[in-house]
Amino acid sequence: MDDDWRLHGQDHLQGVTLHRRRYFLWRPDWDHDHCEFCWKTFLLPGAPLQKDQVSEGWATDDEYHWVCDECFSDFKERFHWKVRDPLSSDRPDTPWPQPTIKPSGEVKK
Ligand SMILES: [Zn+2]
Repeated sequence: MDDDWRLHGQDHLQGVTLHRRRYFLWRPDWDHDHCEFCWKTFLLPGAPLQKDQVSEGWATDDEYHWVCDECFSDFKERFHWKVRDPLSSDRPDTPWPQPTIKPSGEVKK
């Protein structure tokens, strides 16, 4: 487990609280994000999904970092994740297709 290729110093995810939700756009000029571990692609629900693309997963409280289902179950004990229910303060889902914004295809973090 210690040499799992998906581990590359995700200390910022140690002990955080995650909630499962549909992928949404954190900023309107983004069009996707990646799992913090396996780099699987998150796309909006409704988008055609290919292999290694998902539209739901686990988000941190700031909803800035995403973890896919597979990595969630593989690493939840190691990272001591807590799980919470959705809250009304969570950001709203992004409708598909996006009405106005042209995706840039890049994620800048
Ligand atoms: Zn993953």
